[in-house]
Amino acid sequence: MYMDNSIHAILARQRLDAGREVWQRRLEEVTARDVESALASRPGSYSLPKLLALVSPAAEDYLEPMAELSQRLTLQRFGRTIKLYAPLYLSSHCVNRCRYCGFNRDNAFERARLTIEEALAEAEILAREGFRDLLLVSSEDRGFITVSYLTELARALRNRFSFLGAEIYQMTAAEYGQLFEAGIEGVTLYQETYDRQAYTRYHPGGPKADYDTRLRGPDDVASAGMREIGLGALLGLADWRLETLALGEHAGYLFRRYWQSRISFSFPRLRPACGVTTEAFPHLVTDRNLVQMMLALRLCFADAGLVLSTREPPELRDRLVRLGVVKMSAGSRTSPGGYSKQQPASGQFEVNDERSPFEVAEMLKNQGLEPVWKDWDRAFLNT
Ligand code: SF4
Repeated sequence: MYMDNSIHAILARQRLDAGREVWQRRLEEVTARDVESALASRPGSYSLPKLLALVSPAAEDYLEPMAELSQRLTLQRFGRTIKLYAPLYLSSHCVNRCRYCGFNRDNAFERARLTIEEALAEAEILAREGFRDLLLVSSEDRGFITVSYLTELARALRNRFSFLGAEIYQMTAAEYGQLFEAGIEGVTLYQETYDRQAYTRYHPGGPKADYDTRLRGPDDVASAGMREIGLGALLGLADWRLETLALGEHAGYLFRRYWQSRISFSFPRLRPACGVTTEAFPHLVTDRNLVQMMLALRLCFADAGLVLSTREPPELRDRLVRLGVVKMSAGSRTSPGGYSKQQPASGQFEVNDERSPFEVAEMLKNQGLEPVWKDWDRAFLNT
């Protein structure tokens, strides 16, 4: 019999997109022995039962050994290096109504968008600070941030930066292909939440409101040949343990199907923003939860990039760089024009780590880690 192996079918079969009580019960049933056998399994290999054990409440007593294993595994695969990148916000005009986001269309504030010349000037500021890895970020502003805007910008930037990524509205595979041709080699597209009901609640309007369309996005990114696919759930919208299980299944599926692309996980926790307070969200994730989630994913996906943004406070970021993170942003501004303007427009969320890129690089060196500003992979690929 024909078996549908799309990510939609996999999550539906596992009931990871709904019927979540089943998984709550399974998580509660995990024993210390299950956690120990997950820890004894081949480091960095994935299976759903293994991830279930490592994100369970029972595994909370095993954070120390999980951290040791994660540190060792990350060192083996990535060395003592942390890549640094900077986001470049292009527009805060948006047609969507995501309830957790300061840019949602119902929010009244002064919005901004950058011309290509303005975007290049912002990028130059970042290049002078040392960055060679740039993430182009935009809200869903298709009328202005068009595919041709992005390809023109990428062509102008690609000789100055060794890696260009994009975190923008969802596109078709053909459109992602055009970005790739122009020099954008990675796309981050968060599902936001894998829980269908929560997804509908938090996305009441706009093109992003369709759960299934969103879920198909990473397939389209991979089909376009992108070297890096960024996944993540916005932490705070639904139970983080269940989100991690769905995220694991999604990553496992992509790894099997698109072996030529690298997968990375980001861990965005909800932050206050213009018109958004975190108290309104019932599933806030503690520092301890966040650490457990990162460790569990590292122990299941040895080669995945774990990415950390300036949403997190300095003390926590300083600790997490030793536990499995391989890439982090620094000195970020979350509004268009944020690097050049004295009084930039309202940001997408409040940054938690205000340190300069230089200070972050120094912190890494003080911990015996090497800050890496440049992605060397392209040079290797070209030879
Ligand atoms: S999360 Fe993205 S799509 Fe949603 S409102 Fe914010 S900028 Fe727009």
